[in-house]
Amino acid sequence: MSNMISHWIDGKNVSVDGRTGDVFNPATGEVQAQVALADEAMLNKAVASSLAAFPDWAATTPLRRARVMFKFRELLEDNLKEFAAIVTAEHGKVLSDAEGSIIRGLEVVEFAAGIPHLLKGDFTEQVGPDIDSWSVRQPLGVCAGITPFNFPAMVPMWMFPIAIACGNTFILKPSERDPSSANFMAKLLQQAGLPDGVFTVLHGDKQAVDGLLTHPDLAAVSFVGSTPIAEYVYQTSTAQNKRVQALGGAKNHMVVMPDADFDQATDALMGAAYGSAGERCMAVSVAVTVGDAGDAMIKRLEPRVRALKIGPGTDPDSEMGPLVTAAHKQKVEAYIDQGVADGASLVVDGRGLTLQGYENGFFTGGTLFDNVTPAMSIYRDEIFGPVLSVVRVNSHAEAMKLVNDHEFGNGAAIFTRDGDAAREFAKGVEIGMVGVNVPIPVPMAFHSFGGWKRSLFGDHHMHGAEGVRFYTKYKVMTGRWPTGIRDGASFIMPTM
Ligand code: NAD
Repeated sequence: MSNMISHWIDGKNVSVDGRTGDVFNPATGEVQAQVALADEAMLNKAVASSLAAFPDWAATTPLRRARVMFKFRELLEDNLKEFAAIVTAEHGKVLSDAEGSIIRGLEVVEFAAGIPHLLKGDFTEQVGPDIDSWSVRQPLGVCAGITPFNFPAMVPMWMFPIAIACGNTFILKPSERDPSSANFMAKLLQQAGLPDGVFTVLHGDKQAVDGLLTHPDLAAVSFVGSTPIAEYVYQTSTAQNKRVQALGGAKNHMVVMPDADFDQATDALMGAAYGSAGERCMAVSVAVTVGDAGDAMIKRLEPRVRALKIGPGTDPDSEMGPLVTAAHKQKVEAYIDQGVADGASLVVDGRGLTLQGYENGFFTGGTLFDNVTPAMSIYRDEIFGPVLSVVRVNSHAEAMKLVNDHEFGNGAAIFTRDGDAAREFAKGVEIGMVGVNVPIPVPMAFHSFGGWKRSLFGDHHMHGAEGVRFYTKYKVMTGRWPTGIRDGASFIMPTM
């Protein structure tokens, strides 16, 4: 079958007859390809290839590993348009947004190209008489990345550039809903000079994931996806004594204080709530308006939500594309039904949208709710669609309590012109990534990305210095050269 998306093992496409999954074009609703779904034999083949490639790659100098990253970066730039078209074809997001997401991934590649510097250890002369001590960071072995559908290029690039630059080999298990980006990156890495076996793509579903989580030859697992699966991945793999970082879901709040610039806050909310049809883990899905800000924001938001330009991601005029699958569209619209049943005020209803020429596409319109309360499922759950809930409160303290009481802790933002209110918020919120007049505070590659509470299981955030720590083991050496001095046997702790 020509439109079969195969595994990438040992530097080539590998397919066998077996289970496959449908890959849709979300704008048209048509099945456009089949993706192979790995069974145990394929999983073992992938891990064996990755394990075999590890010793040589780990022994390759950091400088040479960095050069592959430099070249890969160049290729990403040269192939940006083609890559973005692949992301849009399977995910549905608008092309300009797909390009932006690839560039955010490319920035991690740029960071990883600095690996000779990042892996430098510490050295202390004379920790004892004629004794020196030095530390190094060494790779772990075979690492796996299990990634979600919403960023098929960027999220894998939060992981593998650093893992590989540190000297590990890497198996990517991308989302089965938009799997082609993984193969595209595999080809570019090969062109960049990465030895075969260092980067592997294993397509699959729960069966492949479960096999990876418990495989004895796997050293570490990086996961990004929904919270129930993140928790499952963390618990399953740490029980096998593996190193795990598992990033989960989110419900990001943006607090709008009464002194905020409401027009600026409206622009910010439009992009943050409806960009990529809300399918971003840093999307703002709750606007917490303090005092008078409620009426001011609803008045500004309503016409803007109604005027959203919704269409296929390939149309340069579209601001928002379709949702990823028909099932996801149904889920999002069921939440809107529930919000209405729970008594929230539906200001703009996005249900039932059909677009001429794209009648079978998975489109849903922008939705705006007012008077949402913490008891409602539209407030508690991650909807992962273009649905913004406005919750009205009376004070800064009430707004902070709302943010802190929520089970998720990925991102939060405050819009205000009061430095004190902003500082108190940034200091006190139980959130991993905080924005001050910035709605989506996604950290740059040289900082690290991660949430708190049930948005992250594990100790390390992704990329930046945290990434280097996650993908390496720390070792400290203490040594001296024979000097002719004989200390004799010592039975006490040496003190200097
Ligand atoms: P998902 O949890 O359904 O899938 C993520 C990965 O897990 C996929 O590779 C999938 O094949 C695998 N998987 C799914 N079900 C599984 C199961 N039962 N057992 C084992 N593996 C399973 O997530 P998704 O729908 O692809 O992505 C959206 C979710 O990802 C949202 O919750 C979003 O907030 C989250 N996300 C979080 C971040 C973050 O940085 N915290 C970033 C992007 C996306």
